[in-house]
Amino acid sequence: MVENSAKSVLVVEDNPANMELAVDLLEVGGFRTLQAATAEEGIHMARTERPSLILMDTGLPGMDGLQATRLLKQDPQTASIPVIALTAQAMEGDREKTLAAGCLGYITKPIDTRTFAQTITLFLSAQRS
Ligand code: MN
Repeated sequence: MVENSAKSVLVVEDNPANMELAVDLLEVGGFRTLQAATAEEGIHMARTERPSLILMDTGLPGMDGLQATRLLKQDPQTASIPVIALTAQAMEGDREKTLAAGCLGYITKPIDTRTFAQTITLFLSAQRS
């Protein structure tokens, strides 16, 4: 397995508590992290920083996470970066909505602290194969 230390994860999340938890868990898991609190900032950082993976909150102020994902997938500069949705809703149909927007998968909030970093590692290995 490729070491996580070579991997960077951009977290796009407007809730400071969720951001802190996600970043802490990713860093304990060995990832480097980048942070953005809005979709616009996240898109800018995706283009300039080229993260290994993007965790995208679906509920953001202004442009929402699914629209941001569509824009990232339309842009040849960022289309190949896997996007995982972070969604508060665990409702039927949400998986389809995230996949239709171009997300590789989704993680439901509240974040499961025991499995979160490992889930990101698994998404990254799935993307490579
Ligand atoms: Mn949010």
